[in-house]
Amino acid sequence: MNTPPRDLRRNPKPSDEFASWPPSAQEAYLTMKESAKRAKLERDALRLKQLGVPPPPVGLPIASLDELTLPWERWMDGRIHRLKHGKHFTGDLKAVLEEARLAAQVTGRGLLSLREQMAKNYEYVWVQFTDYSILVGDPCPCGGRKLIRVHASLARCTRCSKTSALIPR
Ligand SMILES: [Zn+2]
Repeated sequence: MNTPPRDLRRNPKPSDEFASWPPSAQEAYLTMKESAKRAKLERDALRLKQLGVPPPPVGLPIASLDELTLPWERWMDGRIHRLKHGKHFTGDLKAVLEEARLAAQVTGRGLLSLREQMAKNYEYVWVQFTDYSILVGDPCPCGGRKLIRVHASLARCTRCSKTSALIPR
C-alpha cells in the first residue's frame, strides 16, 4: 500500500480568511488579540519587576522590541557590537541610534553608543547594552554601593556583578 505524499504546506490559520469573516467574528478576534497583547505587556512588566529592573518609562513610543526594525535583542549580550551601514542597517545613523536608545529604554537597560563616520561607505554605529543605567554616584539598582569602573562610562557592581552605563549628572 502506498502512503500518500506528505503535504508540506503549513496548515491554514483561521486568520488567513479574516476578510471574509462576519463583522462580529472580526471584532471578537481583534478584541482577543488586543487582550492577549495587554496580557503580554503585564507579564513582561512583572518579569522585569522580579528581576529588579525598573519598568520602562511611561510615554515611550514603543511597547516592546518587536516594534523596532533592527534585531536589538541579538546585540544585548553585554558585549560591544559594531553595526555596519549596508550590512546591519540602512538609512540614517541618527535613526539607528534613536532605535538603540528606545531598545535600551523599553528593556530597562543602559546603552553606550558611538557614531563612526569617516567617509561615505564607512559608517558604523557602535553599541553596548548594559544591564542598567544609573547616574554617576548612584548605587546599583540592587542596592550595591561598591561599583568598579570599567571605564569612564561603564561600571560593574561588586554585589550583583551587573553592569551599569554611567550617566553624567
Ligand atoms: Zn548590583
